[in-house]
Amino acid sequence: TSFGFEEVEPAAKASMVKSVFDSVAGRYDLMNDVMSGGVHRLWKEAMLDWLMPRPGLHYLDVAGGTGDIALRLLERTGGEARVTLVDINASMLAVGRDRALDEGRVAGIDWIAGDAMRLPLPDASVDAFTIAFGIRNVTRIDQALAEARRVLRPGGRFMCLEFSRVFLPLLDRLYDTYSFAVMPMMGRLITGDAESYRYLVESIRRFPDQEAFAALIREAGLEQVRYRNLSGGIAAIHSGWRL
Ligand code: SAM
Repeated sequence: TSFGFEEVEPAAKASMVKSVFDSVAGRYDLMNDVMSGGVHRLWKEAMLDWLMPRPGLHYLDVAGGTGDIALRLLERTGGEARVTLVDINASMLAVGRDRALDEGRVAGIDWIAGDAMRLPLPDASVDAFTIAFGIRNVTRIDQALAEARRVLRPGGRFMCLEFSRVFLPLLDRLYDTYSFAVMPMMGRLITGDAESYRYLVESIRRFPDQEAFAALIREAGLEQVRYRNLSGGIAAIHSGWRL
């Protein structure tokens, strides 16, 4: 079953992405845990291990959704970093902000509605740019990467966590079955919405593999690009620098 969104025009993809996240926002965190068996937490920690956040710096988390990365950035810097979270979806931002409020962790994060392809931040204004499971949803990856480079100050770090290409022969079969059969079914059971999870699976399929994505990052003018595979390539972390 093909969702076919790669053939649709950019405006249609953007509105599809909006409706997907509008529809799952309230249960997004629960679904993440259920679908990944909690492993998305380990992947996020792995990205932060590599990034090594330090107090006193300005971090920008794009497509930050309900704040998973932003809250970890604060935690790891003892609340001493400045964290700006940008997401295009008001429902996701609202869920994240409310949860942070409920947990009494309200200080330290600026929640901003904005587009990864036109960030509402000045040139050279952040020390690190992170994006987790977000760039896949952006209509034009090259534009989002160019924006990352623009807002990073020279010496700043780019870091992206995204689904990637499984390279283990048995795991890829299992993963296919899981993605195409199990995920939409679980999506329907938990959120009543199988289509959103079908979109998710398709968008993962169409995203460039490890090497191809590294090449795009280099083309955007970021340097010393490296990546690390997670869980046999189910996800990967890409790192680069604005020099
Ligand atoms: N980073 C969070 C995490 O790892 O849990 C959320 C990831 S969620 C799968 C993808 C997020 O990307 C959604 O919150 C969605 O609203 C956001 N998004 C999609 N297109 C965007 C765009 N063009 N600019 C900014 N955010 C976007």
